[in-house]
Amino acid sequence: MKEVIKYDIAIIGSGPAGMSAAIYAARGGLKPIVFEKGVLGGQITVTQEVENYPGFHKTLSGIELMDEMKKHADKFGTEICEEEVKGVGMQGLCKIIETDKKIYHAKTLIIATGAHPRKLNVPGEDKFYGKGVSYCATCDGFFYRDKVVAVVGGGDSAIEEAMFLTRFVKKVYIIHRRNELRAVQIIQDRAFENPKIEFVWNSEIQEVSGKDFVESITVYNKKEEKHFDLAVDGIFVYVGILPNNELIESRVELDKQGFALVDDSMQTNIPGIFAAGDIVSKKLRQVITAASDGAIAAWSAEKWITIHQENDETDLKTCELPK
Ligand code: NAP
Repeated sequence: MKEVIKYDIAIIGSGPAGMSAAIYAARGGLKPIVFEKGVLGGQITVTQEVENYPGFHKTLSGIELMDEMKKHADKFGTEICEEEVKGVGMQGLCKIIETDKKIYHAKTLIIATGAHPRKLNVPGEDKFYGKGVSYCATCDGFFYRDKVVAVVGGGDSAIEEAMFLTRFVKKVYIIHRRNELRAVQIIQDRAFENPKIEFVWNSEIQEVSGKDFVESITVYNKKEEKHFDLAVDGIFVYVGILPNNELIESRVELDKQGFALVDDSMQTNIPGIFAAGDIVSKKLRQVITAASDGAIAAWSAEKWITIHQENDETDLKTCELPK
């Protein structure tokens, strides 16, 4: 029989949304727990430079920013649990969170599980993963000193990470399926001025090839209807993100892409289950919008608990914290 432990708010995910929710919940006098199965801090920890989080005008890395957020959450007594959540359920209004070790009961749940990189799904991508195919320039860029690499995509991630790679590599091809970028203008301007970057427009990668390591990519130019090969030592894929929704997909309403639908209090269709950060269906995914979601979700969770306790709802009593 697994031990049962009780909290006011369980938060799954320790990125900016989860940490912000924890800070607001703990400061509101509640007892939160944050679950994290992987790297503490979430996706932003693979970003080399965060330069648009207000107050932090001296550029800092994603790891440094999340380290500050963790210290902030620690200061107010947030408990962080490095166990993988295997399932979430409901017992009346009480939320049940099961990890491989224990069972946790919480009055409310905030899903802040984020997202993960979308793959290209072309031949050779899986075969050469870790052997020239990467989804993280911050992690792997250093290995490509004086080499030639390709970055795929035209969004903020692709262009920012291509810029970062120019610190090490001889040349970066940015391969984009259209002839204009999606990235914010200031980042585009910097990339256009960088002599190490060459844009390959209207083009898609069709195959990644090599012997033991990536040696070339086959590209198709849609406008000219031509195939050609480019010799590269590595390829960095930034073609968007997919939601980490496995824990909630069977019970929470999602949009067509699988992101969680929430109301303006960040509540999902399930009473007392909130969502925050990149997992949420929304237009702008930034550290600041994730932090904002987390704050709103924690505030709303606190109000939800107050209302339901005032109503003396019996099934929430199974979630009562030990005195
Ligand atoms: P994104 O904004 O969705 O951009 C994905 C890019 O990949 C687009 O240019 C898209 O082309 C292209 N693409 C999609 N599927 C493709 C495919 N199958 N083959 C080839 N190309 C494909 O994704 P992201 O850049 O990863 O950013 C995710 C979110 O994080 C965004 O909201 C972004 O603003 C945010 N972000 C912000 C910052 C920052 O503020 N500093 C940094 C990184 C990310 P199309 O343009 O033709 O659709």
